[in-house]
Amino acid sequence: MLRQLKPCGKLHTFIALMRMSIYRSALNKLPRPLLIRLSYVFRIFASVIYRGNTVACPVCGNSFSKFLSYGSDVAFRQNVLCPHCLSLERHRLLWLYLQQRTDLFSGKVKLLHIAPEQCFHGRFKALQNIEYVTGDLESPLAEHHFDLHDVPFDSNSFDAVICNHVMEHVEDDARCMRELYRVLRPGGWAVMQVPIDYSRAVTYEDPEITSPEEREKHFWQKDHLRLYGRDYPERLAAAGFKVKEDDFVKALGEEKAERHRLQSQEIIYFLTK
Ligand SMILES: [Zn+2]
Repeated sequence: MLRQLKPCGKLHTFIALMRMSIYRSALNKLPRPLLIRLSYVFRIFASVIYRGNTVACPVCGNSFSKFLSYGSDVAFRQNVLCPHCLSLERHRLLWLYLQQRTDLFSGKVKLLHIAPEQCFHGRFKALQNIEYVTGDLESPLAEHHFDLHDVPFDSNSFDAVICNHVMEHVEDDARCMRELYRVLRPGGWAVMQVPIDYSRAVTYEDPEITSPEEREKHFWQKDHLRLYGRDYPERLAAAGFKVKEDDFVKALGEEKAERHRLQSQEIIYFLTK
């Protein structure tokens, strides 16, 4: 019996590996707009394939047996991508933070959202209490297209700014931070999360590293221009922001962190002007 099962087990492992390899290759190679379109089809089946109640996504409110895997070769993680709304660990943490620690869902807020995340965009747009302005270099989700080095809005014109996982892509991050500080009104708040290597004291930059392969090796992704270290809040402060480091994931507790599959070391940098 065992001898009969063994090849079958191997076959299953082989098929599982092939599926994983095709899936990873698709995630890394298919253009993002196509992936987004495919995701609309996939999510119809996802609730059946991944039915269960082991993990829960606070963004879309669905629960599943597990999340999907996601990430580049150097940052691949299992059980992190919501099959319904495509939220990742950082999106789920930020959603909970915005709900519990800001006035975004209750106050009268004029929000500038740079590089709007797919999982947030429709939900923010539906909020009646906010005036929602979106911007990006080219994303079809954004209504204004511009370069973040020169933001085409008046100074002090927004109550809040959200700009996540952008600063690691731009040429001059200090200038982009100063631009977002400029358009934020005094008393306003901002969230500008980035990938951080917490083992590094100082942000790693090297203008000699320009090829996609080298950038992925050194900065975690083919289109990253730097890898931030623990000095990220100092860089934000240099642009003018008052920075509050909030270890919010700890406040949520281990049980919630595990159920929502959050990253235990992620700090929310809550910025004010
Ligand atoms: Zn979700």
